[in-house]
Amino acid sequence: MQNYQALLARLAEIGHINTSAAVLGWDQQCYMPTGGAQERSEQLAVLGKIAHELHVAEETGRLLQAAEGEAAGMPDGSDEKLTLRVVRRDYDKATKLPTELVTEIAKATTLGHETWVKAREASNWAQFAPTVEHLLDLSRQVAEAYGYEDRPYDALLDQYEPGMKTVEVERVFGDLRTGLVALVKDLAAAPPVDDSVLRRDFAPEQQKAFGEFIVAKMGYDFERGRQDKAVHPFCTSFGRSDVRITTRFDRNWLPCALMGTVHETGHALYEQGFDPGDDNTPLSDAASLGFHESQSRLWENIVGRSRGFWDVYYGDLQRHFPGVLDEVSVDAFYKAINKVEPSLIRVEADEVTYCLHIMLRFEMEKGLIDGSIAVKDVPDAWNAKMSEYLGITPPNDAEGCLQDIHWSGASFGYFPTYALGTILSAQLFDKATSDHPAITTDLAEGEFASLLSWLRENVHKPGARYLPAELVQRACGEPAQSHSYLHYLNTKFRAVYSI
Ligand code: ZN
Repeated sequence: MQNYQALLARLAEIGHINTSAAVLGWDQQCYMPTGGAQERSEQLAVLGKIAHELHVAEETGRLLQAAEGEAAGMPDGSDEKLTLRVVRRDYDKATKLPTELVTEIAKATTLGHETWVKAREASNWAQFAPTVEHLLDLSRQVAEAYGYEDRPYDALLDQYEPGMKTVEVERVFGDLRTGLVALVKDLAAAPPVDDSVLRRDFAPEQQKAFGEFIVAKMGYDFERGRQDKAVHPFCTSFGRSDVRITTRFDRNWLPCALMGTVHETGHALYEQGFDPGDDNTPLSDAASLGFHESQSRLWENIVGRSRGFWDVYYGDLQRHFPGVLDEVSVDAFYKAINKVEPSLIRVEADEVTYCLHIMLRFEMEKGLIDGSIAVKDVPDAWNAKMSEYLGITPPNDAEGCLQDIHWSGASFGYFPTYALGTILSAQLFDKATSDHPAITTDLAEGEFASLLSWLRENVHKPGARYLPAELVQRACGEPAQSHSYLHYLNTKFRAVYSI
């Protein structure tokens, strides 16, 4: 296995370049003075170029081919075979795109971002439309270069959700849509929940202290991570032993930092939980973006917004903010953090309406890629779907079809992963609690170790060994389905709204 070992050593080196770049990226968002921007973008570009050149070099291809020969006689489920499958995928992806196309996309997306920012400021889709036309054209070329069996959109999805097909997403979303629209209608007809208690004065230092107290309880290892402030919160990893989270504090909106921190910690627990034996190998990675999001949503929503969680920790929260929530009952607080209200902006959407925002974008993207929706018609198509799914219509493009950054970066195929992850979070939680009923009683006592341990064994430790569909099957004993999620939402929110 000489070539196999040489290949892994080479990939580990490339990995170190990429994590070094990630450290610079983290610093850029957390601490770098604004004056450093130009220099930093050049530093990151150089590191990115070195890593890319090493990856697509003929030597990598030669070692890969030779290693595949060495592993040919091994069982399909062996770590060597599974590792080589990951490496082959990544290598083919990286080498299939013609250099001119890669350069063109880099230029078009840099420009695209500027155009999008201006168009959004002007709230004018027509200003952004020619850019979208161009980026769609480039994305279709990407799909052709990668290749696909059924539909070009499959190839775009596959970049974020390996092996996922459009028809499979349609199957999972289709069941969900009807159920969600009905639930949203019922909740909208019920007396509204008052969430004004969340807008009181919450000192940021105390928000930080309470957030760190909670995420340490969840199992986030501060010896192998830390939390800092950033404008757009994220989780970043420099290897299993240094996984960092960031947050932002809004003095008058408690969920911003609190639920954001729990969300990013869900991502971080995944990264901190890869198998130590896989360190510095291609297996020490997430199965997909959807799986990543399943972890953040599970902790944020299913655990962090549950009645059991607040029955245990509400007293601690009150103690962190003396005098602020004294007369607010746990019941009122629990309802407040679970308020449902159809709204225009995806990133501000609640647990129930969120997936409808995603389905809308999925429908739009499919139509744009296959040409059944013309770019100029996007605002009308968008608004019609908002009205159909959520019963509200955006008053302008900025609060409608221009709100997200994704299309300016040609990231067609990315949106579905948010909803796939959300749906999966409920499916995984169902399986975890049916495998180990003690998880339910532990959670009711504020203990998270048994849940984390199930996730470690079934999701975190397998790392990138399996395709998302294979991992769902292994972890849950069935393919991805939305019944668990729909059941969870109906049970929880019909109780919150007493309907
Ligand atoms: Zn996330």
